[in-house]
Amino acid sequence: MDTPPARRIPSVHEVLRSPAGALAAARFGHRAAVAGIRRALAALRPALRAGEAPAPSAGEVAAGVLAALEREEAPSLRPVLNLTGVVLHTNLGRALLPEAAVEAAMRVMRAPAALEFDLATGGRGERDDHVRGLIRELTGAEDALVVNNNAAAVLLALAGLAAGREVVVSRGELIEIGGAFRMPAIMQAAGTRLVEVGTTNRTHPADYRGAIGPATALLMKVHTSNYVIRGFTAAVPPREVAAIARAAGLPFLDDLGSGTLADLAAFGLRHERTVREALAEGADLVTFSGDKLLGGPQAGFVAGRRALVARLARHPLKRAMRLDKIRLAALEATLRLYRDPDRLAERLPTLRHLTRPAAEIRARAERLAPPLAAWAGGGWRVEVVACESMIGSGALPLETLPSAGLALRPAAEGGAAAEAMAARLRALPVPVIGRIAEGAVRLDLRCLDEDAALLAALS
Ligand SMILES: *Cc1c(COP(=O)(O)O)cnc(C)c1O
Repeated sequence: MDTPPARRIPSVHEVLRSPAGALAAARFGHRAAVAGIRRALAALRPALRAGEAPAPSAGEVAAGVLAALEREEAPSLRPVLNLTGVVLHTNLGRALLPEAAVEAAMRVMRAPAALEFDLATGGRGERDDHVRGLIRELTGAEDALVVNNNAAAVLLALAGLAAGREVVVSRGELIEIGGAFRMPAIMQAAGTRLVEVGTTNRTHPADYRGAIGPATALLMKVHTSNYVIRGFTAAVPPREVAAIARAAGLPFLDDLGSGTLADLAAFGLRHERTVREALAEGADLVTFSGDKLLGGPQAGFVAGRRALVARLARHPLKRAMRLDKIRLAALEATLRLYRDPDRLAERLPTLRHLTRPAAEIRARAERLAPPLAAWAGGGWRVEVVACESMIGSGALPLETLPSAGLALRPAAEGGAAAEAMAARLRALPVPVIGRIAEGAVRLDLRCLDEDAALLAALS
């Protein structure tokens, strides 16, 4: 007996000839289209054999194949809208680059660049020279080098100056940053012996002095960037640790973590110790990140005494941690913006987001509430809410910034859960990332530069 027409599976050829099949072949190639069609047809057979469903038409199969190929082709690393309220969100890639940095990176991606080539003499140049002068100018350091990130900068400084010897650190500063950056582990990886002094809550100058012996290589302070110890506490200020190190003839390394090149108080934010201040307070070397408060690409700096920086520059690990031309170009362009502090808040996205007034954010929330409610549909209530943004990435951990946003709440008790709405927002072509709080999905609009960005994501 013949199979009735409704039960007949279309052939590969028929699917390929349908408009969606032809489009799939044109966009993703003949081979990928045929392979996709074969997979789709194979998946259909068991259900058809069991008589559970009528066979789809060639066009229906092709549409499914086209959609599957589109999903497979979507990049894994995709842009998202960061409406979490955390400005420097490590899991969302931290700082957004200033336009000048994006352009500088694109220029050197498309063309050869004089990366290690001295255009004046035609001889060999040094890649860090593209940022060394700027770092010296902006921090007062004698010299500086740059590596892959601040974890690398710390590892290089320890391995280069203290391998096989001891490093003295206060017990209250043995931080874990997350993503496996734990100070004791870094010390071990660098081949140094950690000498903890003081207690979790109190460390005194005598603790540092008492720990110094013939095996001591350096004294170190680590900025407790993601926590605070409060109550009955005592810490030795950097200036005093510097004096103790100097008296013992040892270098003093200050890991600032985020660090900043500008006085944030001038922008209405809480003051965060600048690299210049840390050096002026006696640090021989300071380490800090490029993509935290500095607002540039991922990078790590070591700045300070010329002789120490030179030693680290010659270390084999420096070669293993060096930056490529793309990031160096972006970093140079970012650093240049600091020469004009008056326009920094406008040009540097990180600072623009941190300084955006709450009233402006609220006005944006009022404008976007109706279209968001229309998108969410009847089962959801959308409210304009006040909220608190965080700086993130371990900068000023307790400091929050008054902000505003939109809360999406299920309209009825026992309705769809906030988790379902968060998943729906994440599934958009440009995923919208918010936070769940008190049964609602909250979108903090501090980092949204234009209404159109959210409207486009929802459309
Ligand atoms: C963030 C941080 C680091 C690590 O810096 P990355 O640039 O993320 O590698 C190291 N030390 C401190 C104190 C930090 O805050």
